Amino acid sequence: MTVIRQTDKPVGESRRTLLRAAVAGGALATGGLTLGTVPASAAPRAVPPRPRPTTPSAALCELADGNRRWRTFHQQHPHESGAVRETLVGGQHPFAVILGCIDSRVPPELIFDQGLGDLMTVRAAGEVLDEAVLGSVAYGVLELGTPLVVVLGHQACGAVSAAVRAEETGEELPAHIQYIADRIRPAIDHSQQGQARIDSTIDRNVAMVTRRLAEEPDLAARITTGALAVVGARYELTSQRVHTLT
Ligand SMILES: [Zn+2]
Repeated sequence: MTVIRQTDKPVGESRRTLLRAAVAGGALATGGLTLGTVPASAAPRAVPPRPRPTTPSAALCELADGNRRWRTFHQQHPHESGAVRETLVGGQHPFAVILGCIDSRVPPELIFDQGLGDLMTVRAAGEVLDEAVLGSVAYGVLELGTPLVVVLGHQACGAVSAAVRAEETGEELPAHIQYIADRIRPAIDHSQQGQARIDSTIDRNVAMVTRRLAEEPDLAARITTGALAVVGARYELTSQRVHTLT
């Protein structure tokens, strides 16, 4: 994200170092069990716990680091090893909830270069809210204690485009798609025309959803104490950059 500057020693660096240790430990234990090269009395090395961002700002830094790796083609594809998978059997501690669109070009784990156990992702067309989405976000925050919720819109969002077109033409969208359009409609920017209207509405929709989430009483209480931030952001397909929206 553009608002967070990379520090001299990114949060991810210490994580990567520990991950290498975790992978080494896991490989040793597996080799012993499979090949019998480790004495039976030798206890498998425990996988060190991965340090997790525990504050909203640290979580944002981690996402910014990952998005930088993604858009510069330096992805690490972290936290996919066998040792990590084994560790995660015992529980999950994702450091961010990402509420994003269903668009196939914007998968959160890829564009933030994160792995297993890192992100709780909730996806709905146009990142619209309904009871299931609200409950899912609340689960990540209240039950798992994640310090950050990112509402992630994106360039060229088809759901937003459909909502704008439906309002302009009066056309009823098929099946349950009209429900999506109805949720987006209050965000439509009538001060703009054509493509500019769609583009502006993408941002306004993110802002609307972000505001509604932040007003949820249980989330608002955590925001007040500084334990949680709800941040609106947008992914650009052209640059692959995620930037926060104010
Ligand atoms: Zn979309």
